[in-house]
Amino acid sequence: MNSHFLQTPIEYLKGLWPKRAELLKKELAIHTFQDLLNLFPNRYLDRTQYYKINQLQPTNAEVQMVGRIIHVKTVEQKRGKRLVATFVDESGTMELVWFRGIKWMRENIKINVPYVIFGRTKYFNGLYSMPHPEMELLEEHEKSLRSAMQPIYPSSEKLSNSGLTNRVMNSLMEQLFILSKNSFAETLPQSILDTLKLMSKKEALFNVHFPRSQENLAKAQYRLKFEELFYIQLQLVRKNLVHKSKIKGYPFERIGEKFNTFFSQHLPFELTPAQKRVLKEIRNDLGSNAQMNRLLQGDVGSGKTIVAFMAMLMALDNGFQTCMMAPTEILAGQHYTSLKEWAQKLQLRIALLTGSTKTSARKKIHEELQNGSLHILIGTHALLEEKVQFKNLGMAVVDEQHRFGVEQRSKLWHKNDYPPHILVMTATPIPRTLAMSIYGDLDISVIDELPPGRKEIKTVHRFDANRLKVFRFLKDEIAKGRQVYIVYPLIQESETMDYKDLMDGYESIVREFPLPQYSVSIVHGQMKSADKDYEMERFVRGETQIMVATTVIEVGVNVPNASVMVIESAERFGLSQLHQLRGRVGRGADQSYCILMTGHKLSSDAKTRLQTMVRTSDGFEIAEVDLKLRGPGDIMGTQQSGVLNLRIADVVKDSEILKLARNHAFQILKADPNLSAPENRVVRDTFSQLVKYRNIWNYIS
Ligand code: ADP
Ligand code: MG
Repeated sequence: MNSHFLQTPIEYLKGLWPKRAELLKKELAIHTFQDLLNLFPNRYLDRTQYYKINQLQPTNAEVQMVGRIIHVKTVEQKRGKRLVATFVDESGTMELVWFRGIKWMRENIKINVPYVIFGRTKYFNGLYSMPHPEMELLEEHEKSLRSAMQPIYPSSEKLSNSGLTNRVMNSLMEQLFILSKNSFAETLPQSILDTLKLMSKKEALFNVHFPRSQENLAKAQYRLKFEELFYIQLQLVRKNLVHKSKIKGYPFERIGEKFNTFFSQHLPFELTPAQKRVLKEIRNDLGSNAQMNRLLQGDVGSGKTIVAFMAMLMALDNGFQTCMMAPTEILAGQHYTSLKEWAQKLQLRIALLTGSTKTSARKKIHEELQNGSLHILIGTHALLEEKVQFKNLGMAVVDEQHRFGVEQRSKLWHKNDYPPHILVMTATPIPRTLAMSIYGDLDISVIDELPPGRKEIKTVHRFDANRLKVFRFLKDEIAKGRQVYIVYPLIQESETMDYKDLMDGYESIVREFPLPQYSVSIVHGQMKSADKDYEMERFVRGETQIMVATTVIEVGVNVPNASVMVIESAERFGLSQLHQLRGRVGRGADQSYCILMTGHKLSSDAKTRLQTMVRTSDGFEIAEVDLKLRGPGDIMGTQQSGVLNLRIADVVKDSEILKLARNHAFQILKADPNLSAPENRVVRDTFSQLVKYRNIWNYIS
């Protein structure tokens, strides 16, 4: 069927008068035949099975049966009238019951003619009954497309209230198939169909909407899932390959004196094998002629900073400047502190630029960047400003990428004639399959081991009722010279309730830990950044023993002497946030602790989150659980969820199909980058259709 037919407005279907069509557009974004065709059922009722009356069990399940009605009577009761029909098959007798529409039923029921009935059975006093069954004459049932597995389509209250019930959806779909004569064009190349033994497109579409058996349905779904993932991966892989062939980067030909000196004389510790491997991967990118676009994933504390610094040295050795961008001032400041220590050993000049950098200092930085005397610039998104002009920027490191948009990342591209090499670091472990979908256009490196000698952080879950015990524990730890974080949820910085909790919490901590023996810092989002920094620095210097904070400390902060993390109302945090927060401790030599405080009432998801935290500290394992609990869209935030707006596949459950699809996309593009070979024509046409009608996940760029 040509694409012209598929673009027919939905109003052409019978039964879709303008008001209903409008609703379909609004509620389900269905405008054309194609949209309707690609509305896949959420689930199916298996109507391939017929039950006999003597097989019924009091399970309350929905069942389908064949039999005849031999008698109908109206029963009058105080509570109202009902119609009762006696329904028989060769194995027994049961009742069908109606409380509404009695008159119509009574007039239309055919006696002694075989019916197919469907519904939920009730068991009472030794007799089964079925209230308000769906009914169809056996003869019609056998002719109808709707006879086997009954698809249930996505719906909404508004839709069903306006009469767009599942039955109507079914009949619209039926019309569409009749009009099309089921002649939908193939959209995958023959070679893939053959190799993977996939169902053809038209069979798959037919079977997903009108499956005759579980087996056919499974094959149809498999084929459509593969196709969906294949075209997403084709797009991502293509982007990546085009990028590598078209986007020139500055080749850093040599590993020079700075890198070598640092490596042989100043390395503060031995690199882990994972750090070395990642450095090699980066080195390979930088040595080629293409621009590097690499995502560096590594759990909190895995040592990404030094890897980034050494990558920066590769740029510096080749005569380029570098910069590093972090999402918060605190974090930028910390990076500045660690990198400065290393940079000074190599006589490199380094500066910090944030929103609160004074005008005079800022001017100087701008000048030195332009004349090339400043080698390394660390900062917040202040780096992205127009006025920040480098003489020769060769590499940009972006820390904690999920806080920056793709858009911001691309601003960095225009800071030099050729785009600088980009290294994105994230401490949010993303399961591999998800990463393939979201960052399919980036290359991925993973630091999957922690530096040696780290002690596992002991994590416990405590109820609010045990608070006094927890306080005693904190006092013991403080007596040993340790420091403590106490974190409160502040999901939206404007939520006054949360603020009240935080301030109440702070006051009770100050009461419990009074001066002069103790001193307590507080940091939250509504403080001026100078005040925040002041408090943070007091804590870093060890002048205060307790830091009461909101999640502003979530990212990156490094205070090795802080060894206890107390998370209040821990049930309100997401898993990845809990994991990030826990990563703030366990940075020094001491045994560290994470205490998750909650009330007694916990949802089952919250319980799972807490149990997971207690059980493991492996970021990737935690990410997998998180993905299962929340689904991919939520994890990546609205910004990227478009990519994951899948119609039929599921990045979590269908990860095997995803890998297969990615491999095939890769093979095809590798052999035929422009998809110009005749056998790939179908891929090219389908792909351009998808782009044209923007219906693969509005991610096309
Ligand atoms: P993250 O990946 O969370 O950014 P950092 O780079 O801040 O981690 O490293 C965490 C701590 O581990 C730092 O104090 C760092 O100096 C130290 N570190 C990094 N790599 C190693 C290593 N190979 N051996 C020992 N300590 C290391
Ligand atoms: Mg870090």
